[in-house]
Amino acid sequence: LDTRHLVLPATDKIQDVHYPVNDETKESAAMVTLARNRDLWSLAKSVRHVEDRFNRRYHYDWVFLNDEPFSEEFQRVMTALVSGTAKFGLIPKDHWNVPDWIDEKKAAAAREKMVEFQIPYADSVSYRNMCRYESGFFWRHPLLDSYSWYWRVEPDIELFCDINYDVFKFMRENKKKYGFILSISEYVETIPTLWNSVKEFMAKNPKHIHKNNLMNFISDDKGETYNLCHFWSNFEIASLDFWRSQAYRDFFDHLDKTGGFYYERWGDAPVHSIAAALMLDESELHFFDGIGYYHPAYFSCPVEEKIRLQNQCVCDPATDQTWMNGYFCTRKFFEARKLALPKEVEAR
Ligand code: GDP
Ligand code: MN
Repeated sequence: LDTRHLVLPATDKIQDVHYPVNDETKESAAMVTLARNRDLWSLAKSVRHVEDRFNRRYHYDWVFLNDEPFSEEFQRVMTALVSGTAKFGLIPKDHWNVPDWIDEKKAAAAREKMVEFQIPYADSVSYRNMCRYESGFFWRHPLLDSYSWYWRVEPDIELFCDINYDVFKFMRENKKKYGFILSISEYVETIPTLWNSVKEFMAKNPKHIHKNNLMNFISDDKGETYNLCHFWSNFEIASLDFWRSQAYRDFFDHLDKTGGFYYERWGDAPVHSIAAALMLDESELHFFDGIGYYHPAYFSCPVEEKIRLQNQCVCDPATDQTWMNGYFCTRKFFEARKLALPKEVEAR
């Protein structure tokens, strides 16, 4: 397929990107999925979506990671579903379990208190392990050593449109480091002290803060407070080398030492997003349009009919939440980047 015949979504023109030419070359990239054995069937559907809409044309490898050994059945099914090489990795215990410098009593009391707020996973230790792992460790797994880029795929997701270009080549050629689709507001009860820790980090490590950062996406008062906006990290197409950088390692270590992953319930989404907004050039962030995406409980569906037809999308545009005000943050992303919104979006 010749990408030169493809029409770009209006937001892509505004973001000043181009689609790469489809040739025989491949990027150093992999699909990455963290999952449990019991996620097998909800994940199988996700994998099929991503394969049918994208990877069947590009055959990127697929790396599955788990804190327990994957079952034979899990490995058989996923190997059959993917068009690249399927690799199955076991997470080392010291990358997953609660570190010994966490005060278990204090953490347990904090979890009990959080239950009162009725927020998801308030009392879950494994969810906290997961968020810390996705923040600070998945990119250290040896199975990812040979790759520069990844696409994170979770169970229960859907893709609604064909992706007719190589998203990894797109990232490299357009000098992007972090790509997202949906962007929403975090539950404040999960991160009461996160921003204070970020401010401490910024004060101590001015060299790690990019001169041309996107602070205005995550703060409405020039860094005094966090506005809770974050990229919804169940979908990420991003650079592994960014997480491997000394700047991000120092950032993660600083946050990790506070214990906030356990004494509160810091998500990998705000952690990744704050790092990307502060440590990258604002032009290295990318909003992916034209793809159509669902993860419980939110939808993104391209607003332009010509894009939906071209990409054979099957989503109802009335379901799109990308451009909603209030809880959703993608409008703020464009504002912060000082990019105009296309008329199709303004009309919503
Ligand atoms: P949510 O999207 O925030 O509701 O959280 P999910 O339940 O989807 O978890 C996020 C990702 O981590 C998914 O890919 C899950 O399969 C994975 N995950 C969550 N908890 C665990 C766990 O305890 N072990 C493993 N191996 N994976 C997990
Ligand atoms: Mn999920």
